[in-house]
Amino acid sequence: MRLWCERAILPGATLTRGVLIEINGDTGLIESVSAGAACPADAQVIDGVVLPGCANAHSHAFHRALRGRTHGGLGDFWTWRSQMYQVAARLDPSNYEALATAVFAEMVLAGYTVVGEFHYVHHDGDGRPYGDDAMERAIVTAAARAGIRLTLLDACYLNGGIGVALQEEQRRFCDGSAERWANRVSGLGSMTGPTVRIGSAIHSVRAVDPAACAEVAVFAKRHSMVLHAHVSEQPAENTACLDAYGKSPVAILAEADALSDRFTAVHATHLQPDDVAVLGRHHCVCCFCPTTERDLADGIGPSVDLLDSGAAICIGSDQHGVIDPFEEMRAVELNTRLSTLQRGNHSVPALFEMATMAGYRSLGWHGGALAPYQVADLVVIDDQRSPRFAGSDDESLVASLVFGGTSSDVRDVMVGGKWIVRSRVHQQVDAVAALSEAIGSVIR
Ligand SMILES: [Zn+2]
Repeated sequence: MRLWCERAILPGATLTRGVLIEINGDTGLIESVSAGAACPADAQVIDGVVLPGCANAHSHAFHRALRGRTHGGLGDFWTWRSQMYQVAARLDPSNYEALATAVFAEMVLAGYTVVGEFHYVHHDGDGRPYGDDAMERAIVTAAARAGIRLTLLDACYLNGGIGVALQEEQRRFCDGSAERWANRVSGLGSMTGPTVRIGSAIHSVRAVDPAACAEVAVFAKRHSMVLHAHVSEQPAENTACLDAYGKSPVAILAEADALSDRFTAVHATHLQPDDVAVLGRHHCVCCFCPTTERDLADGIGPSVDLLDSGAAICIGSDQHGVIDPFEEMRAVELNTRLSTLQRGNHSVPALFEMATMAGYRSLGWHGGALAPYQVADLVVIDDQRSPRFAGSDDESLVASLVFGGTSSDVRDVMVGGKWIVRSRVHQQVDAVAALSEAIGSVIR
């Protein structure tokens, strides 16, 4: 397949005219990218602006059901969490698949082409395993139906808190031991495919003790899996960790040998300078989820210090109060302006990289750039018919997209060389109807 793009955003966030992209339909990879090329007779001509697809590196699909139902009142992360548990208790393989399909379809329409689903509802309501990995199959099937690339991050979750037994509503998150978690995840290999990978996760140092963290880290390395963990989202997590172990969550994970360039620290909000240095030294990725972190009054992570130390930053929509990669990417800069009283903390190319290449790396894929050997995941922005871009020129368009663009400006989306969204219509799922029905079935 050959696409001739009127304009495309090439590595370095440079807007380039007349770009020919050749895609291998069998592998779903980009074979070549030629700038300033003439348009061959057999090429599909793409008007608008073509950019690499965005990566949503942290998702809990079922949290989407809470949108609009938890944001208006008082309370904090912990009161939100108890509302979230009520929805988790109602999930079964059938409604989980339906809800995830609809949410993944919303993501693709918004310009996300890969998702990291941080998955911990893997047991039934009584805490028993589904013998046929039904909940994991539900997520994998949902991603295929919605046409999104998936890394299923299966999370180990053992305790209700540090030194705290599991609560009743947390039983379905728990395998009982890291060894049993590993045995179950070992069986998921058959679900991998051209657009599906299995990754691993430590839910948090609240839910997984240091010895079990080490077991998960060994398993992830042995199976060449990416490893994610929630890290220091809340000050209370740091306090509990210091009280119990005399160390920060990052220090616990470092001692467990969990940190590497295949490790992603999700949130990484309340870090001490030593934590930042350790994450940087191991070239970890940190996944910021700004729309969630501001909704839950979590705080603002040290994005500049992390990048300076050698870590990378990617983005995730986490609880899905908002599904919009442009909103997440600009928020990393705009939140930093509010906390530092300074502008220009992150350049436009740096923000663009957070939403694309860094997220693909976090999820274990070569993608997020219009370049050879990358997965053929791309998005087309309908800038000519959007009032948000009226008056932009080639110089200002990429910054307009990062600081003023929205998910509504996405017109077409390709994943693995296949068009999933054309002219703003999802080709496989009626997202609005699917969301309404799926959310209605879990909210009572
Ligand atoms: Zn999360």
